[in-house]
Amino acid sequence: MIQKDLYDILGVKPEATDEEIKKAYRKLARKYHPDVNPGDKEAETKFKEISEAYDILGRPEKKAEYDRLRSAASSYSYTYPGGERVFDFGRFTSESGGGFSSIFENLFGEKASYRPQPMRGDDLHTVLEVGFRDAVFGTKTQVGLAQEEPCKKCAGNGIDPYSGETCPDCKGSGQKASRKGAVRVVTTCGRCGGSGRINTRGCPVCHGMGTVRTEKRFDVNIPAGVDNGSRIRLAGKGYTGYDGGPPGDLYIEIKVRPDPVFQRAGNNIQVKTTIDLFTAVLGGRVSVDTLYGRVEMTVPSGTQNGQKFRLKGKGVPALKGGARGDQFVEIEVAIPRHLDSRSEALFRELKEGMAVKKGGGK
Ligand SMILES: [Zn+2]
Ligand SMILES: [Zn+2]
Repeated sequence: MIQKDLYDILGVKPEATDEEIKKAYRKLARKYHPDVNPGDKEAETKFKEISEAYDILGRPEKKAEYDRLRSAASSYSYTYPGGERVFDFGRFTSESGGGFSSIFENLFGEKASYRPQPMRGDDLHTVLEVGFRDAVFGTKTQVGLAQEEPCKKCAGNGIDPYSGETCPDCKGSGQKASRKGAVRVVTTCGRCGGSGRINTRGCPVCHGMGTVRTEKRFDVNIPAGVDNGSRIRLAGKGYTGYDGGPPGDLYIEIKVRPDPVFQRAGNNIQVKTTIDLFTAVLGGRVSVDTLYGRVEMTVPSGTQNGQKFRLKGKGVPALKGGARGDQFVEIEVAIPRHLDSRSEALFRELKEGMAVKKGGGK
């Protein structure tokens, strides 16, 4: 019997720790799990291979036996051009007079089982766009998610369960067993591809795809103070677990719609406001929009274009508690574009007066 190196199957080195082997197994099992690849025979075969390898390498006593056998059989190993190492345990067994064959049978024979282990479902990720004020003050909303789920009618294999007939080659088991010396070799039935049925039709519910699209809606609490890139986790709302494992989580990434007036920088708010020349020169009261309504702000005489003023506590609530941010108001001074003749005369008078004052100071 030619057998791929079990360590190669799991993609680990023979000196890998139990934890590394377990990790490698879980990663591969998740990738090739039939629930994730409905109807994909190649993935199914791969999953079986992985499960069988872990069935041995995941148990200390079986692993020890396999390691012993593997090192004894190392002279009967060779590497395919693709880099795949295999052991010819068949030759090894016959030449050793069957001494190892019972161990071998224990390892790969009738007792080798295809036993999927419960696994946690994968996490789901989605993006939710929220309005500027909803992000600032928090809100309750819903998120809708289209999910591919295994079709219930056909159990995910895409075949109408009431069509066709039992495969005569494997009597419906999907597997074929043969003996090679003392070793029982189980392979997937070639006639039905492992499904156990022939002359089948595609499942009418999922049209042979094995999966159906469903939309699920979840209530989401958006806490006050979320920003672009904030993540909200809904525990247990991810993909269903496999074989009785717990479900994964749903991660919602927040995207905040921009506001025409307010700009956000962390928990601070920035706005621009325009004042007239006279207020800038003489100082005065200015009405400014904040997230909490309009407020009156005093600007001092001699306020410059581009100068910024702070309105304390008029920013965004801190997401994790603590003080609110501030609002920064940037001043734009509007210079009059057109002057009537009287105004122009007054400005000239003012200018000359200032020039006299400057000159007199010297
Ligand atoms: Zn068959
Ligand atoms: Zn179906």
